[in-house]
Amino acid sequence: MYPDDEMVMISALQHFMFCKRQCALIHLEQVWTENILTAEGRLLHDRVDQPKTENRRDLRTATAIRLRSSQLGVTGVMDMLEFHRRETMQDEMGRIIAVPLPPASGYWQPFPVEYKRGKPKIHRADEVQLCAQAICLEEMLKVHIAAGALFYGQTRRRSDVAFDSELRVLTEAAAQGIHALMQSGATPPAVYSKACESCSLIDQCQPKSAGAGKPAQAWLNAQLESMLN
Ligand code: SF4
Repeated sequence: MYPDDEMVMISALQHFMFCKRQCALIHLEQVWTENILTAEGRLLHDRVDQPKTENRRDLRTATAIRLRSSQLGVTGVMDMLEFHRRETMQDEMGRIIAVPLPPASGYWQPFPVEYKRGKPKIHRADEVQLCAQAICLEEMLKVHIAAGALFYGQTRRRSDVAFDSELRVLTEAAAQGIHALMQSGATPPAVYSKACESCSLIDQCQPKSAGAGKPAQAWLNAQLESMLN
């Protein structure tokens, strides 16, 4: 269990899965810049970042929900939480999977939905981020959540994601990895790969030359010094 002063952003999980150095640059060194890819992602998120609820007969939705898990040591805001109507609170294994939402009748099963730019990827960073949201909700609502969905802006399609034991183990390992990274205070060295070409921090990181193996802040300081001298 992590105390409040050791919480990290849920988004750090996605950065960590994409590149540990990128995660350290953003969350340790507070380096951030926007490129066309992050701008597109932000525009997509802007549509769901205002707290709003909507009620239909068998579906209730809420956007911009604040999340927290002391088990993972993460906090953040999720895009959209759907509640699907069910007649019972439990599944066939006796687990609580739905909650009452008065004044509506019946029980409502939480189903997290995360909006992403682009299309489904070969790595599991998006799934890990979504699974972390589900673990937060499980802790907050005292329910078991079996699945959620990722919505991709490029394909404009939803992909269902099962929160199976493999994904949960991966998510917990990523959370532990981030906490270890934050505690070490050390930015990992750059390793150039194809992923660098879509990385918003390629200029600050300099994975092929000056920044490789060095904290970005040191590289930025060196650049500033050479501009001033
Ligand atoms: S440029 Fe490459 S090595 Fe550097 S942070 Fe981005 S993905 Fe990681």
